[in-house]
Amino acid sequence: MYQLNDKIKNLVPYEPISGTYAIRLDANECPDNLPDDIRSQLKERLDDIAFNRYPDPLAERLVHSFAEYYGVNPAFVTAGNGSDELIFLIESAFLQKGDTMLVVAPDFSMYNFYSSICEVKCATFQKGADLEIDVDAMIDYINREKIDMVIFSNPCNPTGKGISRAEAEKLVSSVDALVILDEAYMDFWTESLLDKIEDYSNLIIFRTASKLVGSAALRLGFAVANPTIARAIQAVKSPYNVNSLSQAFGEIIYQHKEYLQNRQKTIVRNKEILYNGLVKLSDTQQGITVFSSVANFVFMKTPCSKEIWEYLKGKSIVVRLMGAYLRITAGTEAEVAAVLAALNEFFEVSE
Ligand SMILES: *Cc1c(COP(=O)(O)O)cnc(C)c1O
Repeated sequence: MYQLNDKIKNLVPYEPISGTYAIRLDANECPDNLPDDIRSQLKERLDDIAFNRYPDPLAERLVHSFAEYYGVNPAFVTAGNGSDELIFLIESAFLQKGDTMLVVAPDFSMYNFYSSICEVKCATFQKGADLEIDVDAMIDYINREKIDMVIFSNPCNPTGKGISRAEAEKLVSSVDALVILDEAYMDFWTESLLDKIEDYSNLIIFRTASKLVGSAALRLGFAVANPTIARAIQAVKSPYNVNSLSQAFGEIIYQHKEYLQNRQKTIVRNKEILYNGLVKLSDTQQGITVFSSVANFVFMKTPCSKEIWEYLKGKSIVVRLMGAYLRITAGTEAEVAAVLAALNEFFEVSE
């Protein structure tokens, strides 16, 4: 009888929260659908799609549009079916048997998850109680333990904290390990290393269309790296990894620079309102810690995380529960007001 192997036999499929909720603040998505003018451009573009043909393996038009938006050389960019595909691909291809990768904790759990499928060793560098990364200590760790690859999100999901450009550069230039900076949330901050990509032989940067760009449905992620690494990524990826619809739609969306910049301002402003509201709440309550954030969500610690999560769910508001922590996405201004009102109500009720 066939038996599943040890590494997969206990896995269960990823299940996002089921059910319909009025306010979704659990996945760090953009709260608004694309506006009508962009959507009508996408509809027009549908007519040009050759549905009978395989997609462009290098997604050249999409990559050019992305590269133009960020001011990077298109030769350095590889498109993926979401960053998720790229994380799995790069961990499996750039590590080999016996290699060790390093993750930090807390951080995005997929990095560690894929390493177990790839059967490589995964070490963990713990953050302090303030959830900051001690970069000097991390550099020592990487060099002492002969780490082959390090991957972390900057800004970090779930903490919302980030390391500066200067610190990130210090890290990349002080180790021989391949450094993967997942900048999924860097659209909300200013400390990207994208413009430095050419200076380093050991750096890959991920970006995504799923957060600020508001196109999680298209599954578009990007790996940016020097030509040697970029070529290797293109050589190992499956040839038709990004479908023609996502390529065509993504190309158009990245051309709307002003729209994206305006949305960035709105989301950052709503995040500030959310953060200030949570801080105000924490001043009146025992045991709540609210962490400052440079991303589009706010992370907080509270002894009644589970009760709060349930209470909000009862009001058709979902946030992300992570043990003693809650991660709340900055939605629209009205959604932020609603979640703050519900939280204030929770504490009044529970007093
Ligand atoms: C949301 C997110 C991504 C984006 O993943 P996609 O597969 O591109 O949707 C990548 N990294 C982190 C840390 C994220 O939170």
